[in-house]
Amino acid sequence: MATINNNFSKLSAGYLFPEIARRTNKYLNENKGVELMKLGIGNTTESLPLSLVDAMKAKLDLLSNRDTYLGYGDEQGDTTLREGLVKYYSRYGVKFDSTEFFISDGAKADAANIQELFGRENIIAFQDPAYPVYVDSNVVGGRTSGFDDEKGCYNNFVYLSCNEENGFIPDVPDTKVDLIYLCSPNNPTGAVMNHDQLKKFVDYARKNKAIILFDGAYSEYVKDDDLPRSIFEVEGAKECAIEINSFSKNAGFTGVRLGWTIVPKDLVSEDSEVGQINSMWNRRQCTFFNGASNIAQAGGLAALSGQGYEDCRALVNYYMGNAKIIKKGLESVGLTCFGGDNSPYIWAKTPNNMTSWEFFDFLLKVCHVVVTPGSGFGPSGESFIRVSSYGHRENVEKAIASIKENM
Ligand code: PLP
Repeated sequence: MATINNNFSKLSAGYLFPEIARRTNKYLNENKGVELMKLGIGNTTESLPLSLVDAMKAKLDLLSNRDTYLGYGDEQGDTTLREGLVKYYSRYGVKFDSTEFFISDGAKADAANIQELFGRENIIAFQDPAYPVYVDSNVVGGRTSGFDDEKGCYNNFVYLSCNEENGFIPDVPDTKVDLIYLCSPNNPTGAVMNHDQLKKFVDYARKNKAIILFDGAYSEYVKDDDLPRSIFEVEGAKECAIEINSFSKNAGFTGVRLGWTIVPKDLVSEDSEVGQINSMWNRRQCTFFNGASNIAQAGGLAALSGQGYEDCRALVNYYMGNAKIIKKGLESVGLTCFGGDNSPYIWAKTPNNMTSWEFFDFLLKVCHVVVTPGSGFGPSGESFIRVSSYGHRENVEKAIASIKENM
């Protein structure tokens, strides 16, 4: 008799983006002909840099020739790309061995799968609000007894509140936790942890034999030189951190699909030996994953240096130009805004004590602009909205003009 994984039934109400789509479609059905401007989902919109396209085309040429054709590659990723990443991280003064890198088809799957390495009894902590995959993967992994409707939180999980008072950077947990998810620059708040703030978490993790799962998917959006782009810029992080990263936002690969995860050999948990967690992830990937697309990996390699890197910087700068326009526009109508300086997301406080969904509905119906309600990312996201700078410049300008006109 087959049975289902009952942890799925513990997942709280529908995923945020389907609910946004439902409300948006309902409005459009009832108001035919209305043109909506979307500043909601964090999906890239600008075309791929030509230098990256050329590298992928060259790979395709090799694949179209019998003599140079390649089938499956290494599950861990092409050695050249892993070595390219070693070099990329050396900019931060961080030295790795290429076997500490695992190439994936994107950060989301790695962020969801990484919990498989850890015991079910581990207590997890995460920034609240957070990118939903950290929470949901641990619900499915069986680390909560269920969702507490009254509190709006999952039982057994530790929510590290990110709020206006702490500048959206939480303090280390005041209880003992085992796995800590950190995302910086943060989705959705746009906050970036400075070196001291990250160091506090590294110190906490080393003291408590906890492990930090650091998501750096927006690392290239950090403009201030004194802000860290990788957790491994902090001394001691190799003993206590895994970093998950992506080419999606830094190189426009949301559709191409490519990411990486660093599992340092020095990383240890309370009960593991040096190198064991790296070996476990290697084993996991070799068994459950057949490697990222070789075409995508050729593009990824091109993105890491030379013209490719410069072109990716230009792409990031384009979105950051949008972020500037959005932040200035929202502030001009009296909204209090955070983020958007070293991240593509602007975290805006709702006016007149509106809830996140109330303000979402107002912007949808009155301004015809779609944003993301902050409460969808966790209880501390209530009374905020996330505005994404991913969009064509002309659409961003139109959306902001509409907000200015109608608010
Ligand atoms: N991590 C964060 C914080 C994100 O915001 C996103 C996408 O929005 C991802 C990971 C997903 O990255 P990928 O496209 O590589 O799966």
